[in-house]
Amino acid sequence: MITPIGYDINEICSAVKGSWICKAKSYPLKSLSLDSRKIIHPANTIFWAIKTNQRDASKFISPLYKKGVRNFVTQSKVKANQFPGANIILVADTIDALQMLAAYHRKKHNRTHVIGITGSNGKTVVKDWLHLLLSRNFEVMKSPKSFNSQIGVALSILQIRPQHQFAIIEAGISRPGEMEKLEKMIRPDSGIFTNIGVAHDEGFKNEEQKINEKLTLFKRSTSLVYPGEQQQITKALKNKVFKNIKIFNWAKEPGNLLKIKSIRRSGSHSNISVQVHAHTFSFSIPFTDKGSIQNAINCFAELIATGTFKKDMLPSFRFLYPVSMRLEMKPGQHGCIIINDSYSNDLQSLSIALGFLKQQLKSQHTVILSDILESGLKDPELYNAVASLLREFGVDQLIGIGKNISASKALFSEISKKEFFPDTASFLSHLPQATFNNEAILVKGARKFLFEKISSALEAQVHQTVLSMNLSNLAHNINVYKSLLKPGVKIMAMVKAFAYGSGSNEIASLLQFTGVDHLAVAYVDEGVALRQSGITLPIMVMNSEADSFEQMIKNKLEPEIFSFKILSEFSSFLSRHHILAYPIHVKLDTGMHRLGFEEKDINELTGILKRNKNIRVRSVFSHLSSADDDSAQKFTLSQFNTFKKLVSKIKDSLKYQFDTHISNTSAISRHPQFNLEMVRLGIGMYGIDSNTKIKSRLRVVNQLKTTISQIKELKAGETVGYGRTSVLKKDSIIATVGIGYADGYSRILGNGKGKMLINGQLVSTVGNICMDMTMLDVTKLKSVKEGDEVTVFGNDPSIEKVAEWAETIPYEILSGISQRVKRVYFEE
Ligand SMILES: *Cc1c(COP(=O)(O)O)cnc(C)c1O
Repeated sequence: MITPIGYDINEICSAVKGSWICKAKSYPLKSLSLDSRKIIHPANTIFWAIKTNQRDASKFISPLYKKGVRNFVTQSKVKANQFPGANIILVADTIDALQMLAAYHRKKHNRTHVIGITGSNGKTVVKDWLHLLLSRNFEVMKSPKSFNSQIGVALSILQIRPQHQFAIIEAGISRPGEMEKLEKMIRPDSGIFTNIGVAHDEGFKNEEQKINEKLTLFKRSTSLVYPGEQQQITKALKNKVFKNIKIFNWAKEPGNLLKIKSIRRSGSHSNISVQVHAHTFSFSIPFTDKGSIQNAINCFAELIATGTFKKDMLPSFRFLYPVSMRLEMKPGQHGCIIINDSYSNDLQSLSIALGFLKQQLKSQHTVILSDILESGLKDPELYNAVASLLREFGVDQLIGIGKNISASKALFSEISKKEFFPDTASFLSHLPQATFNNEAILVKGARKFLFEKISSALEAQVHQTVLSMNLSNLAHNINVYKSLLKPGVKIMAMVKAFAYGSGSNEIASLLQFTGVDHLAVAYVDEGVALRQSGITLPIMVMNSEADSFEQMIKNKLEPEIFSFKILSEFSSFLSRHHILAYPIHVKLDTGMHRLGFEEKDINELTGILKRNKNIRVRSVFSHLSSADDDSAQKFTLSQFNTFKKLVSKIKDSLKYQFDTHISNTSAISRHPQFNLEMVRLGIGMYGIDSNTKIKSRLRVVNQLKTTISQIKELKAGETVGYGRTSVLKKDSIIATVGIGYADGYSRILGNGKGKMLINGQLVSTVGNICMDMTMLDVTKLKSVKEGDEVTVFGNDPSIEKVAEWAETIPYEILSGISQRVKRVYFEE
C-alpha cells in the first residue's frame, strides 16, 4: 500500500515528536510506504519501519537505502554512520507515530467534513453507498477496502487531500482502549453507528462495554445516526456527556427524529417511506433483506444529518448494488447460481447472505457452510441459532463443512437434505458424485476453510476471451520512465480510449497510487467516469466541446484549448458562471497539423490570455508527429525549437508560472533534452517502446487469451470458413477458438497472416476471421485438446508482432480490443 503524502521530513519529525538519528537534505516527499516490496520512487518515499511483536521492519532499512530510499522512521536504534545522506527519525513507537502524523494531517484538513462509521455490521456497505450518493454533488474520499484498524485508519486519513469536501472513514475495534486512539485521528464531524450485533466480541466484558467503547468515536461529533430500535445504544447515550451532538435516530416507533412510516417489499425491491419533521420521503432499494434496509436508511439519515440531502438523490437509491458486500454471484454448472460470500462469517452476515439467497428465483436453495469461528457463543447455542436462520429463510439443503458444525448435526433435524464433511478437501473429493441442478447455492465459509476452491469447482467453465493486465509490471514500467526523467519532471499519464483498452478506472487508480501528477483523457465522459470511481488527480480533457462544459466544471476537469473558437466559448461560459482562474491547457501546433494554435496566432492568443481573468493557463504543450522515427530527427528538432520560441512569447506576456510539455513515450526515451516541466506518458506504460534499449527494461502488461472451443480433423481439399478462401493442401487438424473481429482481432489476420500460441508453439490462422471465432491450423501440435488455452498476444506473440502481421501499430491493437472482452487485473 502506497500512501501519498506531501510533507518534508522536518515537518514529519515535528508532527511525530521524533528525534534525529541522522539528518540530511529535506525536500517534499511524495509517498509513505510500510511495505518494502512496493516502493516505486525511492528518493521521494518515506519508509515507515513498523515494529510489532511479530516483526520489525527496520531490518529493511539497509536494503532500501541501497535502492535509493533516503527517508525513514524507526523505533530501533540503527547506526547513523551506515546511512550517509539519509534522514532517519527515531520514535518511541512506530504505530503511535503514524497515528500522530495522521492526527496532524487531519487537523490540517479540518475543512474536510469527516464522517466516522462504526458498528458490528454494515460499516463497509454504508461507507460505499454513502460515497456513491454523495459523489454526485461533492468531492468525496473513502477509506480503502478493509482499512479500519489502527494502522489502516491512519493510512486512510493520510489520503485526505485539500479538494475533498467529505471523507468517509470506517473504524473497527476488537479491544477496549482502541477507539480512543482512532478517535484522535478521525475526529468525525458526524457519525454513524450502523448497529450492534448479537454475538459479543472476545475482547469485551459485555455488550454495554462494547457499545460504550464504540460511542467514544463520536465524543466530539456534532451529529450521530443510528437505528433507534437498538435501545441499548439509546441507553448508553443517556450516560454520555456529548455536548454538541444532535441525534438522528430512526425507527417505526415515535421518539425518533426520523420516523419510518412504511417498508414494503415488492419483488426484489423494498420501498421505504421516512418522515423527517413535516416531510415524507420515499425511495426504493434493490434488496429485501433486513441488513440492506438498515444500511440504506442509515445512509439516508446521514444525508439528512449532514444537510446534504436533495430530493433528486432519491432515485439513486435504486442503484445501490451489493458490490461491497463481496457477495459475488456467478453462473454455475447445470443451471445453478453460485453466491460466493467471502466477506465474513458470523450470524449477522449469514442472515444478510441468506436474505440474498432467498431472493433468487430457483426451485431449490442450498447452503454450503463452514464452522463459524469466534462467535463468542458456545456451540449448541451458536448452531441452534444457525438452524433457526436456515429455517427462517427456507433453506432446502445444507452442506456443513468442519468439525464443529458436523458435531452439531443433530440440531439441523428440520432440514430435509443435509450432509456433513470434516473439511473442505473431503467435500471436494465427494463432489463428482454430488448433483446440483438448477438451484441457488450460497457458499459461505470462514477464510481458513478455503471455500474459494468450492466455488470455483461449482462455477460454470465459461470459455471466454480474457484480457489480463499485470499491474505490478505496469508499475515497474512507470518506474523505468521515472528513472529516465530528471528529478522534479512531472508525468501526465495518457489514459484516453479506456486507457489504451486496458480499463480506465483500474489503470487510473494504480496511477494515482504510484504517484503520477496528471491524467489526460480524450472526452469529458471518460473524465467523469474517472471522477466517479474516486480519481482525484488533475485530469486534462483533449476534445472539449461547448455542450460538455458544465460536466467539465462539475467534475473539475481541465480542458485542452486548441482554437480561438473553443477559447471564447469556454471563457464566456466561465464568465456567465462567475468562475475565475479556471485551469486550462493550451495546445500549440508545431507541425503535427492536427489541433492547436499556430505561430501566426500567437500574438492574438497572448493578448486574450493576458486579459482574461476567467481562465488560468496551467500548461502549454505541443505534440510531436515523428518522435519514434530517427530519419525524422531534423523535423522533430524543428518542432521542439518552434515550441520553445512560442512558449517564450507566452511566458513573456503572461508573467505567471505554467508547465510546458511536448514529449510522448518515444520522446522520453529518445530525446531527454525535451523533458521540460512535464512529459506525457502513454504506450510505454504497457511495455511498448520503439527504443530497443529501453524496451528491454520494460515488462509485458497485457495478455489476451482465449480457449479452443472445438477441434476437427479435415481431409485435404476441404475448405475452412466463410468464402472458402482456405483450401487444405493435406489432411489437417483445425481448432476453432473464441475470438473474432468483433473482439478486435482484425480480419487482416486471417488466411495464415496471424498466429497464436498454443502449448508453447505458434500456429497460423486458416480461412477468414469470423465475427466471434477464428480457426487455427494445429496439425503440427503434438498434444492439443478442446479447452486448451490460446495466447493471442502477451510475451509470445508480442503486441508488436501482432501489429506487424495486421499491418498496423500496437496502439490500434491495444485500443481495439472490444469492450465485451472481459478484463481482469492482477498483482504479483
Ligand atoms: C496519446 C497521446 C500521447 C501519448 O503518446 P504515447 O506515444 O502513447 O506515449 C501524448 N500526447 C498526446 C497529445 C496524445 O494524444
